[in-house]
Amino acid sequence: MDMRPIAILGATGSIGTTTLAVARAHPSRIKVVGLTANSNWRELISLVKEFEVKTIALAHPQAAKSARESGEFPGVRILEGIEGMTEVACLPEVQTVVSAVVGTAGLKPTIAALRLQKTIALASKELLVLAGKFVTATAKQAGATILPIDSEHNAIHQLLRHRPSHEVARLVLTASGGAFRNTPLSDLPKVTPAQALQHPSWNMGPKVTIDSATMANKGLEIIEAGWLFNIPSERIDVVVHPQSIIHSMVTLTDGSLNAQLSPPSMVYPIQDCLLYPQRLPCPAPILDLNEVIKLEMSPPDLERYPCLRIARQAAKTGGTAPAVFNAANEIAVEAFVAGKLAFTGIAPLIEKTLNLCSSREPSSLDDVLNADAEARAMASKLAPGFAR
Ligand code: NDP
Repeated sequence: MDMRPIAILGATGSIGTTTLAVARAHPSRIKVVGLTANSNWRELISLVKEFEVKTIALAHPQAAKSARESGEFPGVRILEGIEGMTEVACLPEVQTVVSAVVGTAGLKPTIAALRLQKTIALASKELLVLAGKFVTATAKQAGATILPIDSEHNAIHQLLRHRPSHEVARLVLTASGGAFRNTPLSDLPKVTPAQALQHPSWNMGPKVTIDSATMANKGLEIIEAGWLFNIPSERIDVVVHPQSIIHSMVTLTDGSLNAQLSPPSMVYPIQDCLLYPQRLPCPAPILDLNEVIKLEMSPPDLERYPCLRIARQAAKTGGTAPAVFNAANEIAVEAFVAGKLAFTGIAPLIEKTLNLCSSREPSSLDDVLNADAEARAMASKLAPGFAR
């Protein structure tokens, strides 16, 4: 098997850290050649030494300055800003770019890498939600591959390999139900960010963990799946599966339901993307079938998870509506984390923003970036009206 040189955008995050663990487990297969972070330059010191990385980028210019002045990176090029991240993603030796920046800051670097026909191992679902039309068109035009890291989409990708599209009836995304699956509905207005961050089955970054509790995450994933697998959102179902062992399913035209199972660890989908299409032993525990394994499934309760209903509506509307949903959700989550919005204020704030920012068909990346900025401004303006 060949050696895969990779760059990791978002190397200090939850996905970035797990990607590095996978690279550590396969030193003769995966070579880390570029790393980026936002401001957390100190965490890059030991990583640069361990993986002998020669180029890094820090999105925050002050962090890049501090890193240069620290003297901790001898012989390492320290780039900055989105341009620096783009240069790391486009390094000539890089074959696969792990796109794992939270939010949409990874958009330009990811598109630039696709243009150079680099494979994208995509964790940042926000990029497809915001600009799926342009990201997928760029990949198609350049003949580049996008491999999904998100566990649900990775599962579906595994299930669809070599499967003609006319044999696929529906996709079924599984959802853990997040931190408040069993919380009485009457208690939801009082729940705190600390409680929302207690995910029952996954250990993830803070934003995606809160999005799990509201199921805005599953809404984003419906939109993501639509772009990845070229299927309308009406044919994408969601089922609550608290054990997070079935990562997703595909219903074939004859009614047969195919599932992909593994323990809830991101090591599996990340390794799949980095070694694709080859398989090697994985540095994570496997399912122990000598133990009793419970696999519960139930339909999502839309009263508990109104963000799922709103995301479906945005997916159906299309155009810039998914970008507005994503932007308003980010503002709402920030306000919730800052103690300025109740947990139950997140969905109404998103819905109101969607009602006020009308959707249009974007004809360029700038169009979606403008819709994103407009929705952020609108949600920020509306947020105090939904305050606790
Ligand atoms: P984290 O919050 O753990 O990490 C985010 C990473 O992005 C960090 O390296 C951070 O750098 C960097 N970053 C943050 N803001 C910026 C910015 N403005 N410019 C450049 N870099 C920035 O996130 P996760 O790893 O949890 O998630 C990353 C993506 O993967 C998200 O889109 C998420 O939805 C998706 N995902 C995550 C899963 C998980 O298990 N965690 C599962 C499936 C998908 P710094 O440390 O300097 O702040």
